Amino acid sequence: MIKADQHTHCNFSSDSDASPESMVVGAIEKGITHLCLTDHMDLDYPGTTKEEPLFEFNVADYFTALTPLKEAYRDKLYLGIGIELGLRPGREDLNQQMHKLLTDYSFDFVLGSVHLLDNDDPYYESYWQNRTAKDILSKYFSDMLTSLKEYDNFDSLGHLDYLIRYIPPYCGEKDYIFREHQEVMDEIFKLLISKDKALEINTAGLIKGLPCFHPKLETLKRYLELGGKLISIGSDGHSPDKIATKFKETEELLRSCGISGYYVYKKRIPEYIPF
Ligand SMILES: [Zn+2]
Ligand SMILES: [Zn+2]
Repeated sequence: MIKADQHTHCNFSSDSDASPESMVVGAIEKGITHLCLTDHMDLDYPGTTKEEPLFEFNVADYFTALTPLKEAYRDKLYLGIGIELGLRPGREDLNQQMHKLLTDYSFDFVLGSVHLLDNDDPYYESYWQNRTAKDILSKYFSDMLTSLKEYDNFDSLGHLDYLIRYIPPYCGEKDYIFREHQEVMDEIFKLLISKDKALEINTAGLIKGLPCFHPKLETLKRYLELGGKLISIGSDGHSPDKIATKFKETEELLRSCGISGYYVYKKRIPEYIPF
């Protein structure tokens, strides 16, 4: 049984209203013994201002809020203090800021995720107009590879192919042909493996009506084939009810690939947990 959810958000993220404690209590109710909050830090997100920062939070306040909870609930669950960093190619300035944050604060777990393309968020349908899904995905994966070559201070690569969730109906199915992206995907995997970085299994795909988590099975199998061993699992839940969603189905799918456990991170050190 999967008992760790290592990708969740609370109200330190611009897109969540959940208090940190409500997330901890929600996790305990679901039988989770290791919860990691990984709030969004997408530096210089388009439209952000000093007065109204988007997808940024005050890290000192975050530790002040989470550290007492970590203590208060330690008998029931391990509360990891994590962060989801938004990776951007060609932004050495942001890479330096992120690196400094991780030097100044002792996080348990760091996700590296790509959310933006061409300084725009493909979450919004307007991004897809007059373009093909294949071209957008190909740009997404190659930007991801560039970012990973430029910045490696993270523990697990977040939701590798999550962009397919947002493919609008007029751009075709919410899917992609793996071999069309294999070359760049292979490079991403080889880089992760050589640097001992994990690949995240993000179960939100199953919640959004897709047949699989992210990345899809064919893609995950290639990671394993190339020698990838480290995986972390997260629901990407932004409210207590979404914690650990679809973990049962996820475990079955992972077992079908020959996987029999996962890794949890404490103070950024991976520890293997069998199902
Ligand atoms: Zn994300
Ligand atoms: Zn997230």
